[in-house]
Order: sequence, then C-alpha cells, then structure tokens
Amino acid sequence: GVLSDIVLDKRSYEEQDNDSAAPPEVIQVSKKLKTTTRPLDLFSPGRGYLWVSSLTAQMWCEQKLHYSLTLPVVEVEKPAISKGTDLHLARELADHDVVKIKVTSNEDIWAAKLLNLYSPVISFLLGTKMRREIPIFGFPFSHNVFVIGLIDEIQFDPETFTFDILELKTRSSSRTLPSKAQSKSHSLQVMLYKKLFDDLVKGQITKYSVAQHLRLELDKNFGEDINNSITEHGLSCLNLSELMDCVFEKMKSLTCINQLLLEYCFQEDNSTIGITEVKYNEEWLKETCDHYMKYWKGERPVEGVDIEEAFKCQSCEFAEVCEWREKKSKELARKNSANSLK
Ligand code: SF4
Repeated sequence: GVLSDIVLDKRSYEEQDNDSAAPPEVIQVSKKLKTTTRPLDLFSPGRGYLWVSSLTAQMWCEQKLHYSLTLPVVEVEKPAISKGTDLHLARELADHDVVKIKVTSNEDIWAAKLLNLYSPVISFLLGTKMRREIPIFGFPFSHNVFVIGLIDEIQFDPETFTFDILELKTRSSSRTLPSKAQSKSHSLQVMLYKKLFDDLVKGQITKYSVAQHLRLELDKNFGEDINNSITEHGLSCLNLSELMDCVFEKMKSLTCINQLLLEYCFQEDNSTIGITEVKYNEEWLKETCDHYMKYWKGERPVEGVDIEEAFKCQSCEFAEVCEWREKKSKELARKNSANSLK
C-alpha cells in the first residue's frame, strides 16, 4: 500500500505558485538595504541552498526578488495564495495520508524529506501509477549550489516504464491560460524538476556533497519518530549516511522523466482550464541557470526587467522604490529626447 508522507511544515518545502501578476497588496517598504556579499547567504543564511521557486521568482524579476530579500516587508497573505494552497493540499490528501512527526535535529528534517522521496519511488516500483508532493533536490549544472523543489505530481506508466511530471497551477483572475511571461517561469520550474530528478536517476549526486552543503552529520543518530518512520518504510537505517545510500540506490532503478505537463486550474470552481506540454531544453536551462547563479553567488549585479516586460512593474509592490525602473525610465527619456532632436 501507499505509505504516509511526513509533513514538517508544508510551507517549509516550497512556496505554492500563484498568479504573479495579481494586483499588489499594501506592503510597507523602507529604502534601507541590508548589506551582504552574496544574495545566496541572504536567502539561506550560511546553508547555501535555494528553492526552485526562488529561481522561478528570479525569472519574473530578479530585482523584485532581490528587494523581497533585502527590504523589510510587511506582507499580507493574499486570498489567492491560501486558495491555491488549499487546492494543492486537497490533491495531496487524496493521494496519501499525511502524518505529523516530531523532529529533533536538522538530520531528522532531511531524513523526513528523503523518506518522502523514498515512499513514492517504492510505490512506483510496486506499480502505483501516480504520487503527489514529491521532494527533489540536487546541484543543477554543478554550480555548487544545492537546489530543492517539491514536485506536485509524478505519473508512472508501468507498461512503458516512463515517468511524467504534472505541475498544478491555479489561476485566480480568469479562466484563461497564463501569459507568455508567466508560462516561461512555469516551464523553468518543471525543467528544473526534471533535471534534479534525472540527475538522481543517473546517480550523479553523492551523500558527501549533500551533507557538506547542508552541514549535516552523516553518522548522527535519528530521533525516535524518524526511527519509527524508517522502520515503517521497511528500512533499517541508523543515520543519514545509510538512508541516503538506500534512497539514492533505489532512485537508480527508475528512468528519467519523459514528459513535462502543466495543468492550469480555475480557482473559483477547481475546474481544469487546460494542460500544456513543456518541451525540455537542456541548453536553455543551463544558460538560464548559469546566468542566475552568477547573481546568487554575487558575481554580477542584480538586474530588473527588460523594457518589453515593463508591464510587470505595474503590479509590483516595489515600483515606488525600484532603482532599476528609475534607471530604465531615465534611459528611455534620454533616448526619446535624442530621437526628437534628430
Ligand atoms: Fe522589477 Fe519592475 Fe518591480 Fe523594479 S518595479 S522590481 S523592475 S518588476
């Protein structure tokens, strides 16, 4: 049967996706920036890892993401977010039970994530055709930056032994497919999931690199709840070293992700608006990651949106304080006045 997934804190995994173009809430900002060398350290102090959702937010506007990390913000939860989260949770609960457990260390937290990956892998090998909320992680394109994500759904076809990713996106504003700008970041998201999943299937990740990045002790004993959970999963691992060996070994019995699908749902009535397929493009994904990682590692300055995407600024809570926007509008004004003098 399908084992229960362990929930630490749903939101600790990854933010749920919502319409990025939704009107801004009232947000208070101050112009005071925190000083730091690398944005990566701002995001995950000292731990050096990112969420897939940080990279998709970066695709929307890196400057906006940067402000959200550096400016003190008082955020109000948007109704769209809670409704979208509810829909994800409802689907997850339809797939498997969720149990809360007590964790006593960071090693326990990572053991729980590993078990949440191990459980669907085992069910697929036993013939289960679909599992939801699957954690995935790795070092895309060897940037020495650990990236974590949570895949909405993996579908398995036992006949062909193929795996497809289906990512659920809720639409709050209208019963239409999203704009090009939004679907581009959704494509990035599912391509990253495939990259992380495939790297695990190909055995391209070591327990030593994970432990080093997350500052975890490979031989530390787990707490009681994790020990019980490990036993329930039919394993007998005493520490992360043994657990990662088991999980990584099992991942190698799967095959790489075949199809990438995005399902758009209308929030009002949970009806499906449409399902689109994303064509995996490793070259584009690598170029995008290479460019984005330079920002995270502090190797280039932050960038805002291009002039063609200035519509994003209209729904941006940082528009009033945005230096990029100010610089771009001055450039444009200069260009226009030069043209009028010609
Ligand atoms: Fe990005 Fe525009 Fe917002 Fe500035 S105003 S942070 S460029 S979306």
